[in-house]
Amino acid sequence: MTYVSETLYADIRAEYKADKILVKEQSETQDLLLFENAALGKILMLDGVTQVTTADEFIYHEMMTHVPLFAHENPQRVLIIGGGDGGIAREALRHQGLQKITMVEIDANVPAFSKQYLPEISGGAFENPRLELRIEDGAAYVKNTNEKFDVIIVDSTDPAGPGAVLFTREFYADCKKSLTPGGILVTQNGVPFMQADELKSSVGFFKELFVHGACFRATVPTYAFGEMAMGWATDKDYSGLTLETLQKKFVGLAGDTGYYTPKVHLAAFALPAYIEKIIQAA
Ligand code: SAM
Repeated sequence: MTYVSETLYADIRAEYKADKILVKEQSETQDLLLFENAALGKILMLDGVTQVTTADEFIYHEMMTHVPLFAHENPQRVLIIGGGDGGIAREALRHQGLQKITMVEIDANVPAFSKQYLPEISGGAFENPRLELRIEDGAAYVKNTNEKFDVIIVDSTDPAGPGAVLFTREFYADCKKSLTPGGILVTQNGVPFMQADELKSSVGFFKELFVHGACFRATVPTYAFGEMAMGWATDKDYSGLTLETLQKKFVGLAGDTGYYTPKVHLAAFALPAYIEKIIQAA
């Protein structure tokens, strides 16, 4: 019986039974492993850290995408940093009003691999004419681009290896420079029960750079040991968003959701005290 270890945390190892190893390869930037597990479907790991599973990917991809896109009054252009599995792009393309989605992914192997082995995650997103895929470092892209975006979604790995640069003040400042007025930055910010310092660091930079810096939360079973935090940074106050407004927008979303609802959207910003304390201390 083969088990694969999740090695994100120094003091804890989660093991997943590998019923079948589908792919194991080393790209220039990271180790890539895909295997099947009876409970979680297909599991993609990069450098020993769970990136996505077909069983619960809908939770993370729906919340990272629909919360900023339904909050923003009229998003036209979205930038995805990372997101190589295509899940965020799939969810963004459900917003018919979006003109263009730019995805900047550092590792060409991830989209190629995802299309071949995890087509259910990208759901054809990579072939959609509204999506532009660029293979480059997301930090370099936002530093050099003159493009402006209504929403930037940083669907990164954790702050190690190529992903580390996506948790720096400089990167967030370059994201701010690349947002339109009222634009929203959302980031993958880990599981604060285990990674409090990561969230505190990011939100500290958000508060320095933006009028509003905080996070919202979602429960993603395979981002283990607690609720996940999604960083939220913007100069506009979206706290007055009403359930009625969200319900009207939600009706226009193509297809069904498994986690996101307008009520869950609003509730996601109600933080448990231990996370609220991290935000306040940041
Ligand atoms: N949902 C996952 C999570 O929460 O950990 C992340 C999914 S996605 C697979 C993460 C992507 O970020 C990977 O495809 C990785 O190649 C990409 N990535 C890492 N560092 C990057 C960088 N500096 N610029 C652009 N993409 C990067």
